[in-house]
Amino acid sequence: MIVLKSDREISLMLKAGEIVGKVFEKLNGEIKPGVKTKQLDKSAKEKIESLGGRPAFFGYKGFPGNICTSINNVVVHGIPGEQRLTEGDIISLDVGAEFEGYYADAAITIAVGNISKEAKRLIDVTECSLSSGIEQARAKNRLSDVTAAIQGFVEKNGFSVVRAFVGHGIGSRMHEEPEIPNFKWIKEDVRLEPGMTLAIEPMVNQGTYDVKIMEDGWTAVTRDGKLSAHFEHTILITEEEPKILTLWQKKKQ
Ligand code: MG
Repeated sequence: MIVLKSDREISLMLKAGEIVGKVFEKLNGEIKPGVKTKQLDKSAKEKIESLGGRPAFFGYKGFPGNICTSINNVVVHGIPGEQRLTEGDIISLDVGAEFEGYYADAAITIAVGNISKEAKRLIDVTECSLSSGIEQARAKNRLSDVTAAIQGFVEKNGFSVVRAFVGHGIGSRMHEEPEIPNFKWIKEDVRLEPGMTLAIEPMVNQGTYDVKIMEDGWTAVTRDGKLSAHFEHTILITEEEPKILTLWQKKKQ
């Protein structure tokens, strides 16, 4: 069942979303060669807690980090640790926060210093595919309108959408119904309604969409070793424009 949120629930989710946004504003300024992913994790935890939230990923099904840090060929669920960022890397940061029982979840992919043109294009296409999906996230449209927009945009640009992971409804739990694939699927479609809150999250690969899971049981990498990018927002379906609950301001560096 898809839960429609009350105004009170939406305001708590917006607060959780603001916390996630503040984490991105902070981490975006900290991404540089030499930084360890565990430093980013610590920094995110401190920011979330200083704003009255709780890092939603820590302990989720046993996940050991506060955020996910996924570098280069890592698609999602990279575990923060001793690895240092290197000039030319791309890193996806996936951040979830809980505030007074409500969740927000978002992801961005960032360049570490100067990156290749093709890596830059992968990041741009992934971010734009999310925008094109959100553009379709309107009452009366179907979920498949969102997913078709994402897949269409990605494939038109020569990249592939990951099949093994999908977006999700979100609210008083981090993962609620419906599942939100970034591709055509065979399960029942859904008509979008005001009050639905959705985490839409294209994961886009440079080469094949196939992934494999590493021995740690979490880290998902591209099967062909090529790059992957990930963007995600938590959004609210309204009577009018979709409302992004995890907006943040990219400061000029
Ligand atoms: Mg998510």
